[in-house]
Amino acid sequence: MATNPESPMDLLWKEYSLVFREFDDHTLARWLAQTLGQLEGKAWRLSHPLLGAYRLAAQLGHERQIWFKRLATPPAAYGESPCCRAPMLPLLTRDVRDTGLICQHCNDTLVPYDDVAAAIRGDLETWATQYAPVHAVAHWDDRQRKSAGNYDHAYENAAKEAEALLARAGSRLAPKLLESFAAVVWEDQDECLEVRPEDVLL
Ligand SMILES: [Zn+2]
Repeated sequence: MATNPESPMDLLWKEYSLVFREFDDHTLARWLAQTLGQLEGKAWRLSHPLLGAYRLAAQLGHERQIWFKRLATPPAAYGESPCCRAPMLPLLTRDVRDTGLICQHCNDTLVPYDDVAAAIRGDLETWATQYAPVHAVAHWDDRQRKSAGNYDHAYENAAKEAEALLARAGSRLAPKLLESFAAVVWEDQDECLEVRPEDVLL
């Protein structure tokens, strides 16, 4: 699910999603509702296979307007998303201050940053403020790289710091968001710093 639609990874996910295209609307709606029941009460890594499968089905469900048709009833703990009326399943990313929490059904903003519960916004602010300069190392221009002396070293350090910051998102921030949402997803990688999910240990 990379951002470039032509990337090999995207083509692979497209292939994975074919299984859901064989589902009729009712079957897809029931699968989504049932899986939401299994996701309930936990903070999920974006890389988790069950979550990956759910996201594929959810995007197809969005295309087919499954939640508007009310073909299945999602678990009661999930509120209705203002963006697309799907059950609320937010994604926490390092860009939370700019994009808010992202809807896993339509990929639009589910909750603008200013509307996140005040009790956790302070922690999110601190985290995102620490993360921004770390992530920025991946995008330094030539002048900045030169002034750092050993850029490889600076990049390695930034990747290590990103691993710790992502672990904090998964172990502390996402669980706190569970006070506001039935289930939460957190991004457990940083592609620009080449931090992979398996590098982020909880
Ligand atoms: Zn949505």
